[in-house]
Amino acid sequence: MSKVSKAKRENSETSLYEMVMKRFDRVAEMIGLDPGIHAVLRKPERELTVAVPVIMDDGHIEVFTGFRVQHSSARGPCKGGIRYHPECTLDEIKALAALMTWKCALVNIPFGGAKGGVVCDPLRLSKDEIRKLTRRYTVMIMPILGGRRDIPAPDVGTNEEIMSWIMDTVSMLEGRTVFDIVTGKPIDLGGSLGRKEATGRGVTEVTLHLLRKLGKNIEGTRVAVQGYGNVGSVAANLLAEAGCKVVGISDVSAAFYNPNGLDLSAVNDYLAKSGEKLLKGFQGEADSISNPELLLLDVDVLVLAAIENQITEENADKVKAKFIIEGANAPVTPKASDILRDKGVIVVPDILANSGGVIVSYFEWVQSTQSFFWDLEEVNTNLKRRITRSLEEVWKIAEEEKIDLRTAAYTIAVKRVANAIAQRGIFP
Ligand code: NAD
Repeated sequence: MSKVSKAKRENSETSLYEMVMKRFDRVAEMIGLDPGIHAVLRKPERELTVAVPVIMDDGHIEVFTGFRVQHSSARGPCKGGIRYHPECTLDEIKALAALMTWKCALVNIPFGGAKGGVVCDPLRLSKDEIRKLTRRYTVMIMPILGGRRDIPAPDVGTNEEIMSWIMDTVSMLEGRTVFDIVTGKPIDLGGSLGRKEATGRGVTEVTLHLLRKLGKNIEGTRVAVQGYGNVGSVAANLLAEAGCKVVGISDVSAAFYNPNGLDLSAVNDYLAKSGEKLLKGFQGEADSISNPELLLLDVDVLVLAAIENQITEENADKVKAKFIIEGANAPVTPKASDILRDKGVIVVPDILANSGGVIVSYFEWVQSTQSFFWDLEEVNTNLKRRITRSLEEVWKIAEEEKIDLRTAAYTIAVKRVANAIAQRGIFP
């Protein structure tokens, strides 16, 4: 990470944690939240920073920094992904842990919020180095993990193989097979059918439900997707299957546009064959555009499924999409949210739009604890029911209170968490 961008992110004015907290403060004030409970929820319950030494393939020892933050366990065991990213910071992990608290509360699953991360570039590490890094990181954060305490899952830069290593490490050290320690595991290790696609499927269900609710024709709806990774690619393909026209896609390496709709099967074939699994070099029928241009395409729906801070006060005014679906966490800054609201753009907030992953993680955890596994239809039906019900709840509050969807979602979530704290009382 460049020194400039790191310094910028650690500056309190651009701190992601402060940004997430500012949103919380606004809602706390609006609902007249008890000042004591406000103070409790403003700080994560636990922040753990660990040093993770790894013997690299060339024999030298490299020491990585890892984090695990538990924001709130008021409503149940903490839940949240682990990211491997060179620009990962404690500030970012704290912010994402808080978002998990609101997300779990909003979709009404009995979990609190957590997040973890290791500062590393998985693209520059060998598989063996990633395995050793994962096992050592797991041991370092194990004192605060547990199927009834804190349950990690995949996030940017991690996958089901890494979840298997976490599960195996804990199992080896405990001397028994521990299925419920992580979610996002492979099916053969107690994973849930549909988990891998769940976030992208949830993004799709929310988008389609919203369009239908507003009387829009799905057929031909123009969609652009930033971040053709796990979430973005699933959403793009399912939206195309439903009849939408996906005209733009991007990843960290490239962006493509075709006003008549991209041939996603050609894209998928290209990615399946290319070693790096990146869009750069794709030669199909499409114009190469820049990532900033993709965000400003003339589309109906813009799905943001890459990273945070993509729509800011600098580009919000130029956005042409009528609907923005936050597949990623915090891709729209608070100032940009205000600009978009004033322009009449409907933004479906991250804590609702990308909750499909944690909803099916919850289903996986339930299946793991019961050792009783559901078929795919049951998973997808329950996901659709839960996420569209949450959208309806948010929509109702937004209409009643005349507020935007994000403020409505936070209102529901914060009230639920605050009620749990009030009902439990402050220990001792
Ligand atoms: P991923 O690593 O599979 O995909 C991320 C994609 O974004 C990749 O295609 C990457 O190349 C692209 N990208 C990264 N930086 C970019 C940039 N500056 N411009 C354009 N593209 C860029 O990760 P994912 O699992 O799909 O997660 C995407 C987002 O969704 C993250 O913000 C993550 O926190 C959030 N999220 C994921 C899940 C999940 O279940 N995977 C759940 C909730 C939220």
